[in-house]
Amino acid sequence: TLDVIRQFPERFQVAALASGSNLELLLDQAREFKPRYLVVGKPELYEKLKDDSHTLKTKDYDGPEVMAGIDGLMALAVLPEVDMVLNAVVGALGIRPTFAAIQAGKDIALANKETLVAGGELVTALAGRAGRLLRPVDSEHSAIWQCLQGSRWEEVRALVLTASGGPFRGLDRTGLARVTPEEALRHPNWRMGPKITVDSATLMNKGLEIIEAHWLFGIDYERIRVVIHPQSIVHSLVVFRDGAVLAQLGVPDMRLPIQYALSYPERWGHLCEAPDLVAMGALTFEAPDEERFPALRLAREAGKTGGTLPAVLNAANEAAVAAFLGRRLPFTGIAEVVARVMDRHHTVFHPTLEDIMAADAWARRLAEGLIAKVTS
Ligand code: MG
Repeated sequence: TLDVIRQFPERFQVAALASGSNLELLLDQAREFKPRYLVVGKPELYEKLKDDSHTLKTKDYDGPEVMAGIDGLMALAVLPEVDMVLNAVVGALGIRPTFAAIQAGKDIALANKETLVAGGELVTALAGRAGRLLRPVDSEHSAIWQCLQGSRWEEVRALVLTASGGPFRGLDRTGLARVTPEEALRHPNWRMGPKITVDSATLMNKGLEIIEAHWLFGIDYERIRVVIHPQSIVHSLVVFRDGAVLAQLGVPDMRLPIQYALSYPERWGHLCEAPDLVAMGALTFEAPDEERFPALRLAREAGKTGGTLPAVLNAANEAAVAAFLGRRLPFTGIAEVVARVMDRHHTVFHPTLEDIMAADAWARRLAEGLIAKVTS
């Protein structure tokens, strides 16, 4: 996002920046973009950030006001001087700030897919009432959004999400059970954070994106398909009722969908090169294997049931991925934990935000219990 903003300094002013725990990078970014507010996710880093932020002062910059944790994020989401909030928080933690920003009348560029997975029903209703557009940052949803420009909804037959298939596309179940965190973190095409990289390897990321697409585009699950496309050049497709298919192609670089979320409805030049079709030669497509990668099936099931079940799927997955990265759970255990937690859940339909957060907390506790049994 800051790369995009750096290209168009006349269009943007950074009002606030938030980071999880990387103070060094946050301070470097603050030195360059001079925001009025900084937030660090980990409350125990607040004092350090406050001390270090004094070094940022120059004659044309008074330095930032410093906040911490979820309260800090909530404060940033509603700042009166802010027009647009880009939410790229990892996990269910990002839900409340998104709600607050919509209620405060901000435009939302949404990279936090958990907002839509866990709170899709509420957040889309809220955005509808507030007349706010949720601008997708996720590359697949950005692709679909781009393909839909100039079309009417009743002309759409289906959406096709592409998935790279992750680094373990060719492994059988025995091979998958032996996968290490290091191997899972080596994504073939995209450079992303650890949580989403593991989600790409299990295909849970694509499962979450099915639910995300359902809420973003208001389309039923039967009309959302997934196809494996290892080159990650076709970012997703829309099938129209006359059989025509529109696809969006681009190099795998998140700056392109981020820029479109910021520039919509315009397109600005030119941060990314177009893909070189001749150099690429072949683009291939295959069906996903839901036996070896059950996350896709679990996510579709959670989405179709609806209510609090997608929040439970997501929370159990967050706990299981953290356990896998901490070597407390095998790779194939991630989907197993998610399935068992989903089985035990009594779904609440048309949930409030409190119901969603309660289901999230319940699912994490149960997942941790199941993981502890595996570990011992
Ligand atoms: Mg994506």
